[in-house]
This record gives sequence, structure tokens and C-alpha cells, in this order.
Amino acid sequence: MSRSRERRLLDDCFLTDRDRVRHDDVVAMIRERLTIIAPTETIGLAEAQGRYLATPVTAPRDVPLADNAAVDGYAFAYADYFRRNTLGVRGRVAAGDLGSIELVRGEAARIFTGAVMPLGADTVAMQEDCDVSDDGRTVTVPKGLKPGANRRRAGEDLEAGQPVLEQGDALRPQEIAALASLGVGQLEVYRPLRIALVSTGNELVEPGTANDLVPGQVFDSNRAMLRALTASLPVTVTDLGILTDDSATIEETLREAAASHDLILSTGGASRGEEDHIVEILDRIGKRHLWQIAVKPGRPMTFGQISDDAHDCVFLGLPGNPVAVFVCFLLYVRPVLQRLGGRADETIARYPLPANFEIARKKPGRREFLRGWLGTGEDGRPAVEKFASDGSGLITGLRQATGLIELPEDTERVARGDTVLFIPFSTFGIAQ
Ligand code: AMP
Ligand code: MG
Repeated sequence: MSRSRERRLLDDCFLTDRDRVRHDDVVAMIRERLTIIAPTETIGLAEAQGRYLATPVTAPRDVPLADNAAVDGYAFAYADYFRRNTLGVRGRVAAGDLGSIELVRGEAARIFTGAVMPLGADTVAMQEDCDVSDDGRTVTVPKGLKPGANRRRAGEDLEAGQPVLEQGDALRPQEIAALASLGVGQLEVYRPLRIALVSTGNELVEPGTANDLVPGQVFDSNRAMLRALTASLPVTVTDLGILTDDSATIEETLREAAASHDLILSTGGASRGEEDHIVEILDRIGKRHLWQIAVKPGRPMTFGQISDDAHDCVFLGLPGNPVAVFVCFLLYVRPVLQRLGGRADETIARYPLPANFEIARKKPGRREFLRGWLGTGEDGRPAVEKFASDGSGLITGLRQATGLIELPEDTERVARGDTVLFIPFSTFGIAQ
């Protein structure tokens, strides 16, 4: 396998945002150039939550299979009831009774929710609204019912032959319920990607291993956060821990991890400072596809691969600041994991809403993602609030936020009341 060094945008000192790759191009590149690398496996429904379907599913039969009652009450033919609303009671059908009874003109059947509609009946009156004679032989049903009231149709949920799920669909509780309703017990999905997480930085200390820090040290918050961010994705995670800013150690660790993982995700050391080794190591042992993005936060994001004859491992190197890590994960890492792991494209929800903040000057040429949440504007309508500071080390801003505010490249200022795009975190699978 070639170890050619594909160097783009190398003279970073002279790069302007206009030379950097734009957000939309990065997203398009992920969509167009990456392919599914995950093999498939067959699993049971109980393990299906969050997995990506590998084989489409078509409904083999109607759901529900037969017309049935939506309430407890009395079933009859609407054409009959139209003429008289006191009917003879004949028969009783409950949920689970097999087959169906047949009514003749002028008759109603006692029926319970989920029971198959008697032949000849098309409408059900709720028992609360019915008067049964003392001897139980006749029932008077209320006037004013519509034809087909309180009856569920066969195939009303899913029709035989209908495509229900496509390859690449993510399985949520709702999809799992649909599969179960079709009688599917085993399904073919993509296998979880094997990913490795690593933090780099001489200053980093593992949380829980020290009671106190000395100035110059910080606890590693990125790995714990990334672990949580990946928890809802179909991946198995190897934690490679914290590495010091030592080129030889980092190289050795990456080389080794690359052989047994589908993707390595690192944080820190992604710029071009003397203490930043990621880019240089990737150029030496792998291939770099992308480095600088015209985005804030998160400009230096390394995207490449480390390959040997047998195996390609994707490498993603994020900057060290926790806010940049969080935002880059949602915008780029998550789609990469989804793409490689077999998921169809996810649509990102963007809501245009008035800003309840001002930005006097924004640098044109780059896209910015700010931490925001929904509040109330001066006119009493929903509006977007922005976290006051844009410091990319402030985890508090991420906590206050319920989403990202997206400012396009050409925006140069935001006035109160201007429309901005709000992307709720829920669109990335992060619950409130
Ligand atoms: P770097 O990208 O290595 O230049 O780091 C940028 C900033 O992020 C520095 O202030 C680092 O101390 C901080 N940082 C890097 N990695 C982590 C981490 N794992 N947890 C918390 N802060 C970090
Ligand atoms: Mg560093």
C-alpha cells in the first residue's frame, strides 16, 4: 500500500480562512468519499437499539392483520344502525379469539379492544355510551356515530409488500417496535466500528488519579466527554489513555492502534506548534487528507489514514480545547463514524429563529458555531440566546447550551432580531 504523502495546505502560517476548506466541503467530502467499512452481522431485536440496518425490510403481511375493534363495546353494520339503533346482541368476541363470528341484519356483537370484527360489522359503539336491556338481549347504541367508528382497518399501520426500513436506517425504539410488529426477530445490521480514543498533552492528568493539580496541569476532560458522545453510536471503544507530547511515543501508539482499529480519534497537539506532533506524525506514518477548516471553533482538524498492507485505519485528530472537541465531534466525527459504520445520511435540523443577542463584528470567510439555547425575545416570541463568552475552553458554555448557533461564512455582524440558524443538540442524538 502506498505511503505517499499527499500534502495540501501545508504552509499553514500563510493560510487565510479563504484558503482553508469550507464546512460544506468537509461535509460533502465525508458524504462522497467515505464508504461503509463495517462488516455485517445478524443480531436479535433485543440488541438492535442504535444499530444501522444492513438489509431492507418489507412488510410480509398487513399490520394489523384483520379489521379489529379500537374500544370495548358493541360491533354492528352501519347500514343497519342507520335504520334502527336498538339491535339484538349475538355473540361475544375478545382479543385473541381466533376466527370471526358472523352477524345477520339487526344484530350487534359484544366486542373488546383488539378483537377481530365480526363478519358483516364495520362500526363499534363504546360500551359507556350503550344501553343494554335488563335481559341482556338487546343493546341501544347512541345516535350520531360515523361509519367505521372505533374500527381499526387491516393494514392501517403497515401494508403487506410495503417497504418499511431501508439499508442504513438507524434503529430507534420506534423502528424496533415496527420490526417486532412484523414478527422480525433477527436482523442483519452493520457491526460496531472499533475506535480508539487518545489524549495528548504534557499538562494532562487523569481524573480520579490525583487529589490536586499543580499550576500547569489540567485534568483530561476530552476523553471522558468523547466516551459519552460515542455512547449512543454503534462503536466499541478502546481507551488509549493520555500520551505526553513526545513524538516517538505518539507514533508508536498510533501505529500499533491503527493495526487493530477502524478509526483513531485523538485530541490535542493538532496545530503546528513545536509541541504539536500529530500532523507531522501522520505525514510520516500515514496519509493526510485534510487539516485546516475555515470553522470556529476547531480550525485545525486532521483527517487522514494510517494503513498497512492489510488494513486502513481512519485517523481524526481534533484540537485540544474541550469546546472545539465537542463541536468538531458533532459536526465531523459523528458523520464520519456514521458513514463508515453503515448509516444513511442524517439530516441536521436547522431552525431559523431571531437572535436575542448582538455580534458587532464577525470575521467573514469562516463559519462559526456558537453555544446557544432558546429564550424569549423582546416581543415575547421564541428567540435564540448566546453564551456570553466564546472561550473554547469553557465547558460551562456547553452545559448552558441546548444547541449550536450557526453563522455562515459571509455573516459579518448580527443585530438583535436578525434571523440565525439554531441546531438543537437533539439532532445529534444528545438528549436534553
Ligand atoms: P492543544 O490543541 O494541544 O494546543 O491544546 C489546546 C488547549 O486545550 C490547551 O489549553 C490544552 O491544555 C487544552 N487541552 C488539550 N487536551 C485537553 C484535554 N484532554 N482535556 C482538557 N483540556 C485539554
Ligand atoms: Mg497540547
